[in-house]
Amino acid sequence: MLNSGSGDTISEDRIEKIARKYAVKNALDYGKAKIGNVINKLFSEVRPSGETGAEKIREIVEEVVSEVNSLSREELEREAANYVYAEREERTGLPKLDWATESTKINTRFAPNPSGFLHIGHAKVAILCDEYSKMYSGSFFVRFEDTDPKTKPPIPEAYKAIIDDLNWLECGISGIFRQSERMELYYRYAKELIHDGHAYVCTCIPEVMKRNRADGRECACRTNSPAANMEMWERMLSSYKEGEAVLRLKTDMEHPNPSVRDWIMMRVIEAEHPITKGKYRAWPLYNFASAIDDHEMEINLVIRGIEHEVNGVKQAYLYSAIGAKQPHTIEVGVLKVKGTLSHKSDIIKAIKSGELSGWDDPRTPTVAGFRNKGVPPKAIRDYVIGSGIGKNPSYLDMAKLSALGRKIGGTGV
Ligand code: GLU
Repeated sequence: MLNSGSGDTISEDRIEKIARKYAVKNALDYGKAKIGNVINKLFSEVRPSGETGAEKIREIVEEVVSEVNSLSREELEREAANYVYAEREERTGLPKLDWATESTKINTRFAPNPSGFLHIGHAKVAILCDEYSKMYSGSFFVRFEDTDPKTKPPIPEAYKAIIDDLNWLECGISGIFRQSERMELYYRYAKELIHDGHAYVCTCIPEVMKRNRADGRECACRTNSPAANMEMWERMLSSYKEGEAVLRLKTDMEHPNPSVRDWIMMRVIEAEHPITKGKYRAWPLYNFASAIDDHEMEINLVIRGIEHEVNGVKQAYLYSAIGAKQPHTIEVGVLKVKGTLSHKSDIIKAIKSGELSGWDDPRTPTVAGFRNKGVPPKAIRDYVIGSGIGKNPSYLDMAKLSALGRKIGGTGV
């Protein structure tokens, strides 16, 4: 028996079992288990202490690690599937929001691009948003970001497929919106911003614009009057061709990050949209449409991928120009799946070539693919919630997902 430090004694047998569990995980994560890593994990679970105890523990761990390192990957995976790791088991929910009280209603939104089906990484964000709105009795909206008919053309079937996936993931959807159907709203804000001198139409050729932004130099368009800008804005809606004019927000031309300097809110795209067809030619970019919608929809918590970190900085200028409060924002680390295609364009190519049978092929990292593999939705939810809201990227741990699936009676992966 060993002293646990909290007054309990722990049998050597139990120490060995816990060490083995972490050694298997460590070997799967890094190729070989390391004694130090296993000891740290073990101590975080049982906190044993005392001179003699520590020595004995090291001895046990050394033996376990050497045994585990002789197993094949297949054997490791099989064994890991039987464990549910402590950090997942212990956490019962997401951390509380320190700025919210028990009675604050938390309204969140999930904003997918319907240019592909739902990847498990997107599902992570959706589940976190849904879970927070449930924890704080607020709303969870789905808002399709479909205002780029050229570089991210919406796939008509994707709108329904994404909603089906979210319903399958047990998300409680309070409302569904499509940005392509909210264009008049963006036009209204664009006009107000021009009128108030916060936005201007820039007709510099893209190379000049790029150079000016890089050098922090203002162009002549920036000093045009609101009346002149209004007239040019009308031309963006009627006659300017693609690339001839953009609407820019006045931010700070000396901002240390050049991409923040007078970022573009709207541009002309002459491509047909599957829903609105040829009705609109001036389309909002992500930062503009997203911030306006978050404000209009009274979203008070935004959760999105870490790649959007700088967008929070850009949007702060827009919130200040319209006199609104920027919602609390959490940027979370990307969840990737090893050994599968992760880019939409690669998946589309593989489907076209017949290499994959479709977006729901069990070999794709889409939610539909996981459904077809037999993974229960609750296992995915538990996995995501258990992983929390950290910023570090991670690879989906199949063994853990499988263990969670088995625990609730699914077939696992
Ligand atoms: N369409 C964006 C994405 O999928 C949404 C980002 C956001 O939630 O603000 O990354």
